Amino acid sequence: MIKFENVSKYYPNDNIAVKSLNLNIRDGEFFVLIGPSGCGKTTTLKMINRLVDISQGTIYINNKKISEYNIHELRWDIGYVLQQIGLFPHMTIEENIAIVPELKKWDKKKVNERITELLESVGLEPDKYRKRKPSELSGGEQQRVGVVRALAGDPKIILMDEPFSALDPISRQKLQQDIVKLQKRIEKTIVFVTHDMQEALALGDRICVMKDGEVVQCDTPTNIISNPKNDFVENFFKSGNAYNTCVLKGEYKVKDLIDIELYNHYKYKTQNNNIIIDDESSFEDLLKLLKDEELILVRHKGQIIGTIDSNNVVKFISMQLEKGGDV
Ligand code: ADP
Repeated sequence: MIKFENVSKYYPNDNIAVKSLNLNIRDGEFFVLIGPSGCGKTTTLKMINRLVDISQGTIYINNKKISEYNIHELRWDIGYVLQQIGLFPHMTIEENIAIVPELKKWDKKKVNERITELLESVGLEPDKYRKRKPSELSGGEQQRVGVVRALAGDPKIILMDEPFSALDPISRQKLQQDIVKLQKRIEKTIVFVTHDMQEALALGDRICVMKDGEVVQCDTPTNIISNPKNDFVENFFKSGNAYNTCVLKGEYKVKDLIDIELYNHYKYKTQNNNIIIDDESSFEDLLKLLKDEELILVRHKGQIIGTIDSNNVVKFISMQLEKGGDV
């Protein structure tokens, strides 16, 4: 749906922010751009809604060049959430959320219903919050409003630039969980910038790792972890602290997932072609098997107790990174 074709961005000081980028972001996908500071993530994001002009190449949305869209319509149809929440301080929460729907000339009843629905969807009681000013909300609550405001006009695409990085860890984790649930339900395409690997693993359908304005690897979380393309990608996961490193060194065992019930319980019936892993096996062995198999049977004390899939693994790694802090 969003296609980058040989897209480059040069800033006037001859700074090449993005080099010949080719991306295909699918409909309904949660697409994460990650990489160290200055690698071109924000520039990539802002070229989609034309906040930054492209120097070379073309971006298409639904097979139409973004340069051919009316710029206002393009921006209305693309929600945008920033780290600095950017709610208007003198407007109430409901007025903040209503901005785009009102620009789109929705009738009052529809706008009101939308505000109620959106506030409920992120756990903010509509009657309690709609008349408040942003300053009467906590940082986490304000960012929730920031997120639903971006959704208010029912855009097909939402761009998010480090939206949760200023939040405390608990609010951040809660909002991450909410946004995943929300996205599954509303089926929007989300392009999400972060430098936090835990966040990328927790959220992304695909993760695009960037370095010096170029894509190093664009893949599913499982493939990025189990099959990093080069040392840069691998080190990006490993960096940080010993806790993170031991995930990749295989010091965890399959048993660690089982202990926290991170597997799919089911009654075993003999099936051919199923691959079995012992719970004493290393985590690394599990990752290798998951490269080729969607579902692995897991054996504990000689008995098959269930299956493990890549979602379980990604959740596990994400939880370990969360415990160990930022990457
Ligand atoms: P990231 O989001 O990954 O931190 P950016 O996209 O913000 O990276 O920046 C990529 C590169 O482009 C950096 O080297 C940055 O200094 C440069 N850059 C970004 N915005 C501008 C600008 N307005 N003028 C000149 N250089 C810029």
